[in-house]
Amino acid sequence: MQVDYIIVGYGLAGISFCELLKANNKSFIVFDNQSQQSTLVAGGLYNPVILKRFTPVWKGIEQLEIALPMYKILEEQLENKLDYKIPVLRRFASTEEQNNWFIASDKPFLNKYLDPKIIKNSNPYIDASFGLGKVLNTGRIDTQVLVGSSREKLLKENKLVEDEFYYDNLKIGEAVEYFDIVANNIVFAEGYGIKKNPFFNTLPLKQSKGELLTISAPELHLDYVLKSDIFILPLGNDLYSVGSTYEWEDDTNKITQKAREELEFKLRKVLNCPYKVENQVAGVRPTVIDRRPLVGKHQTIHNMYVLNGLGTRGVMIGPYVAKELYNYIENNKPLDKEINIERFNLG
Ligand SMILES: Cc1cc2nc3c(=O)[nH]c(=O)nc-3n(C[C@H](O)[C@H](O)[C@H](O)COP(=O)(O)OP(=O)(O)OC[C@H]3O[C@@H](n4cnc5c(N)ncnc54)[C@H](O)[C@@H]3O)c2cc1C
Repeated sequence: MQVDYIIVGYGLAGISFCELLKANNKSFIVFDNQSQQSTLVAGGLYNPVILKRFTPVWKGIEQLEIALPMYKILEEQLENKLDYKIPVLRRFASTEEQNNWFIASDKPFLNKYLDPKIIKNSNPYIDASFGLGKVLNTGRIDTQVLVGSSREKLLKENKLVEDEFYYDNLKIGEAVEYFDIVANNIVFAEGYGIKKNPFFNTLPLKQSKGELLTISAPELHLDYVLKSDIFILPLGNDLYSVGSTYEWEDDTNKITQKAREELEFKLRKVLNCPYKVENQVAGVRPTVIDRRPLVGKHQTIHNMYVLNGLGTRGVMIGPYVAKELYNYIENNKPLDKEINIERFNLG
């Protein structure tokens, strides 16, 4: 089999890159072994403002301009709803936070996204005596449906191999060869799975494990995402996603009692109605020390590339960096120094 690209990994990074390949009539085959599940468990929120400090997300507008049309195309292709527009309301913990919000909402860029009005909480089951601030143009991508339905489609088209990619079996030359597949290029998009990749495992990727609960709370009736030191995200049918934790040592996908207790402790600080924990999930976010993605070409192998380090905001940044990589490979557009893996000395 002869293809333009082999893609290893089909999370947000791989999915985004494959969308560009499809749009440009490039042939490809994907390998995915489901060993990582960051995309699968993600809350899926997109929001161009960092709500801890009220500062803009790096290239937030550019990212959304590329990401949202991509998800719209995917919705059409997959005949499934993916993009749920929903406001995010930031709970204030003090008058100082309210003042910081006023100051931020007056700043260029942020004034497009932060509504200066302080909203009085009217939900009896939410504790928010200092009120709430509304972020505009936010939403949620249903990453579970995205992964499930796009995998199914690729399988039908014989473009997905549900198996581990065995690095030792890759032959490198003018083209790359993997068993009976010959490809012009190979792109590695394995998320935290990159740690097993001998070509790129010296990149400074750090795990950041996250866990989420799904709760049912029939009395809550929340129609926005509540953001305090956790988020409570409505999923419909009285279900809510509650997340997430950050754990820097454990790099497994296993759920823990510690995370459940932490999330429930934080939940009870803002929620005062009965709820039931229905589910708990965990995944490892692929994060980088300088909080920028890892994109670029292998130091010595001319047809081998990496697309990784999407960190805590893969929904927005995935499509953006996939496009940067595609234009670099196919259109010789130089990579932004901030995302290029050349910024690290890989020895
Ligand atoms: C709890 C939690 C909540 C999150 N919430 C949000 C959120 O609300 N909004 C947001 O934007 N982001 C969120 N994120 C972050 C987001 O999930 C990530 O940025 C993103 O999913 C990373 O995508 P990826 O494709 O790089 O990696 P992954 O999703 O990990 O995908 C990598 C894929 O490669 C495959 N793979 C790895 N090695 C191999 C191999 N050798 N052979 C074959 N296949 C292989 C894996 O099985 C996997 O399918 C959250 C993450 C977590 C854990």
